[in-house]
Amino acid sequence: MTGNDDMRHQGMRKKLVDALKIKGIKDEKVLAAIGKVPRHLFMDSSFLNFAYKDQAFPIGAGQTISQPYTVAFQTHLLQVQENEKVLEVGTGSGYQAAVLVELGARVFTIERQKELFQKVQYFLPEIGYQPAFFFGDGYEGLPNFAPFDKILVTAGASDVPPALKEQLKIGGRMVIPVGNETRQEMMVIVRISDEEFKTEKHGGFVFVPLLKGKVNH
Ligand code: SAH
Repeated sequence: MTGNDDMRHQGMRKKLVDALKIKGIKDEKVLAAIGKVPRHLFMDSSFLNFAYKDQAFPIGAGQTISQPYTVAFQTHLLQVQENEKVLEVGTGSGYQAAVLVELGARVFTIERQKELFQKVQYFLPEIGYQPAFFFGDGYEGLPNFAPFDKILVTAGASDVPPALKEQLKIGGRMVIPVGNETRQEMMVIVRISDEEFKTEKHGGFVFVPLLKGKVNH
């Protein structure tokens, strides 16, 4: 393991879990997963005091590790069951992917920033998490690995990517923030049949944008 995870970190994590409960997160499985993932190892060690605050944080390449509340909220909406095939769009630091692995999902995660992709594909296995990593444009999903039980988009989309709807199993759920650059609405999209989708809305959030087209080498 790179870096250590001792009782002090565990204590800080427990406080974070308590703070999330106060903010309304009730899903015990999600809280347990957040209680296990060593979030401080996802950031530079000099930022230890920020690791367990409920806030987003810059991770380089102009990107951020999502706020724990947002991770908890999206993960709860996804209703992950053990062994489900889950596609995450926007690997970033890998923190959300680690939370999904803790929940027993088979995780496929895609990132379009080369620098972040390279870093995370070495780092996450070192601390014990082994999702399948992909470099590319998540707007197009992963057609060769579809269909998925669940799809989680962790960047703000201007529309619901048609390819992602197509790659959802019937009965499957997608959680995706949709809106403009300054605010997105958290949407849950459930695939009812080949052609029919049901959409629920769950309030406003702010994410870095989901980019379309050419990837960044
Ligand atoms: N899930 C991350 C948070 C990611 S922030 C975590 O837990 O840390 C959003 C990420 O989406 C950024 O890393 C950004 O580079 C990535 N992203 C933006 N558009 C994308 C696209 N079209 N395909 C894949 N990744 C994308």
